Amino acid sequence: MSAHILVVEDETDLAAIVADYIDAAGFRTVVVGDGASALAHIRRSPPALVVLDLMLPVGDGLSVCRELRSFSDVPVIMITAKVEEIDRLLGLDSGADDYLCKPFSPRELVARIKAIMRRMPSPAQPPPVAHIDEARRTISVRARPLTLTPTEYALLAAMIRRPGVIFSRAQLLDLARRDEWDVTDRAIDTHVKNLRRKVAAIAPDLDFIQSVYGVGYRVGC
Ligand code: CA
Repeated sequence: MSAHILVVEDETDLAAIVADYIDAAGFRTVVVGDGASALAHIRRSPPALVVLDLMLPVGDGLSVCRELRSFSDVPVIMITAKVEEIDRLLGLDSGADDYLCKPFSPRELVARIKAIMRRMPSPAQPPPVAHIDEARRTISVRARPLTLTPTEYALLAAMIRRPGVIFSRAQLLDLARRDEWDVTDRAIDTHVKNLRRKVAAIAPDLDFIQSVYGVGYRVGC
């Protein structure tokens, strides 16, 4: 399971409201209703953050937080029913990163989640599919070099530098004309066809150079 926020709360109505707010803020939420399920879930599919209610059946929030600290550094926001409990929990070194007291505004919770997420190092980016060697004017796909003509290099490098951006035929024609004066509109389609064939020889499963009907081409990201 990809990055998600685990909400551990046995009050189903409250859990649903909280999950709605978190989802609306652009995160994905999983809700579990007791401590044992929370620990099992965290071991199986580590979340990006845990919202943990203190009062839970089958393992209260404090014991869940302490146990998960034995195997995980996931940030935890602990929800308590009383303000006084927060002091007590701080004294007990619960392992939580932040505390909120019921009743809390779901907006406040989302703000705290965002604040913690901003402090976290961003996950390692996957290696890019394509790499441009500007000095040698070569491009490799999945670490294998493509054999390109100067025009093919110019077109593909321009698209790779701006992944997801649609290039019209006119824009590509402009780029191509820096290398070839007599290139025609039709020739752009031929260049793209040849580029696709060369990429497919290395990565047949990759939908790398995409046609946007009636508009132009883009490199998928
Ligand atoms: Ca509860």
